[in-house]
Amino acid sequence: MKIAVFETTCLDCSNTFLCPRLSDFSYGEMIFSCECGKDFVKHSALSHPTTILFELLCHIYKLSEHEISLWEFSAYFADTSHFHRFRNANTCPECRSSNLSFDAIERKTTWELSDSSFNRFLSLSKRMLFEEFEEFLALG
Ligand SMILES: [Zn+2]
Ligand SMILES: [Zn+2]
Repeated sequence: MKIAVFETTCLDCSNTFLCPRLSDFSYGEMIFSCECGKDFVKHSALSHPTTILFELLCHIYKLSEHEISLWEFSAYFADTSHFHRFRNANTCPECRSSNLSFDAIERKTTWELSDSSFNRFLSLSKRMLFEEFEEFLALG
């Protein structure tokens, strides 16, 4: 799927770089950026096995939607890229700030983004699943 890419300015170090952004109409979809800001994946949450696990875990741990975000959860547990975790936020590749401003007027180009994968997460044993989920909650 081709994603529109926009010029982005870091408000902390003034670096400018390109970032893919979904339109406001992309319901149930999100782009995750790796923590160095150099790699992106797309995630479609609707009826994804990760979303179903999320709902199950929220139910078991009695968490409400206000206490935990599906997007944070999905980014955290997506398979890493060059050993970098994904985040549910764009990141400046220079200073790693997420304090960014987008020029949403002019689309610079489009990029083909692959879907995030969750091979590691979806193959965790039940015990590891609870352990890692609790680690995730502790970071809150
Ligand atoms: Zn990275
Ligand atoms: Zn920066």
